[in-house]
Amino acid sequence: MSNEKFDAIVVGAGPSGNAAAYTMAKAGLKVLQIERGEYPGSKNVQGAILYSNALEQIIPDFREDAPLERHIIEQRMWMMDDESFVGTHYRSDDYNKPPYNRYTIIRAQFDKWFSSKVREAGALLICETTVEELLLDGERVIGVRCDRLGGEVYADVVVLADGVNSTLARKAGFHGELDAGNVALAVKEILFLPEDVIQQRFNIKEDEGVVIELMGKVTEGMVGTGFLYTNKESLTIGVGCMLSDFKANPLRTKPYELLEKLKKHPSIAPMIEGGEMKEYCAHLIPEGGFNAVPRLYGPGWLIVGDSGGFVNAVHREGSNLAMTSGRLAGETVIAMKAAGQEPSAAHLKLYKDKMDESFVMKDLKKYRKLPEVLHSSPQFFTAYPELVNRAAKTFFTVDGVDKHSKEKEILGSFRSKRSLTGLVGDAFKIWRASR
Ligand SMILES: Cc1cc2nc3c(=O)[nH]c(=O)nc-3n(C[C@H](O)[C@H](O)[C@H](O)COP(=O)(O)OP(=O)(O)OC[C@H]3O[C@@H](n4cnc5c(N)ncnc54)[C@H](O)[C@@H]3O)c2cc1C
Repeated sequence: MSNEKFDAIVVGAGPSGNAAAYTMAKAGLKVLQIERGEYPGSKNVQGAILYSNALEQIIPDFREDAPLERHIIEQRMWMMDDESFVGTHYRSDDYNKPPYNRYTIIRAQFDKWFSSKVREAGALLICETTVEELLLDGERVIGVRCDRLGGEVYADVVVLADGVNSTLARKAGFHGELDAGNVALAVKEILFLPEDVIQQRFNIKEDEGVVIELMGKVTEGMVGTGFLYTNKESLTIGVGCMLSDFKANPLRTKPYELLEKLKKHPSIAPMIEGGEMKEYCAHLIPEGGFNAVPRLYGPGWLIVGDSGGFVNAVHREGSNLAMTSGRLAGETVIAMKAAGQEPSAAHLKLYKDKMDESFVMKDLKKYRKLPEVLHSSPQFFTAYPELVNRAAKTFFTVDGVDKHSKEKEILGSFRSKRSLTGLVGDAFKIWRASR
């Protein structure tokens, strides 16, 4: 490390940091990127679905050499009780025509690839180095201090892409401590299976892939979801719930126990049977939504990606929000430098304006009331999945009972758990919180 000054320092080499560093380096700015992992991706966890559009905006021809597993042609959503599920499946040949809309990826490989593009664009990357704190001159961030001897480096702007813990911004007092009600704790495994077995089990061929999103009793009434994704020669299975719910869960179920339970579900077990577990990891996800987004800029600093809480939990999107925020932060610094401006809060506010105009903040705003509604309504994760599954069983079982009586029984079972006002109220709450 030297006392050399950079146009920008980017802390972190996940999707948001790579997007920011790439955008700025490509425009000719002098960029230093610092990553604590052994290599980019070594510490990162994701499902992982890559949504093409956000990356296309940064590297339009990414499909030529990015490590992509399968393009998704089918989306399934299952509402589960202990024995069964009621699901919707959407499969379209339109998703089978390039350019594909989304892919499964393995983050360790993808982040490495993205980082190689960042370095090709001209940024300097230093790995195995942790930024310990921000250097301040009054209120203005002027650089970072790293865990290396003589590790002080200076820049006009520091882009904080250090992920969900957002340690640096917290330490500097830019925002408060992590609230357990605003983060989910997710665990996932990668299970290896032969390619042809995956293709048979999921009714797919070659590079086609399937996504299954899971909700219901599997989270034991906690606000959370599960997922099962097809990679080329492996499956990713995981489950995550709000950290505050894990803490308050009277059953004291540990996250990995929840995952074990999910893997044993009679509808899941046959799909993953024989899978050899090669990777297990746990990670936090910022799911506080719009109301948990901290201040995003200040003199000499910008916050991007998970560090800014940009995750759309309803649609399970995170990396695309991270990349978009990284790109917009990069464009802001480029505009500031081009205009010969100081990195003051007034000039860096452009980033916030760009974010407000983007799908990122618009989507988070749309669902801003949802976290509160779900937290106060455990029936969405307990009673309703059970009732819906029981209703399906009653309706589809042929047993000599006439259909009118079956309908009455179904209605009765709903009314026995929720009053009519409760049912209508729940529907209204969800509708209002998703407008
Ligand atoms: C289980 C799980 C499943 C998910 N599934 C999906 C999905 O399918 N699709 C999707 O779009 N999103 C998904 N997400 C969300 C997605 O992973 C994140 O939104 C995304 O990774 C955020 O990118 P980021 O660059 O902001 O942060 P990260 O990817 O967390 O990267 C932060 C980087 O900063 C580094 N770092 C941290 N502190 C320091 C420091 N002090 N000094 C130096 N380096 C530092 C870290 O090592 C890391 O490399 C999932 C998340 C989880 C946990």
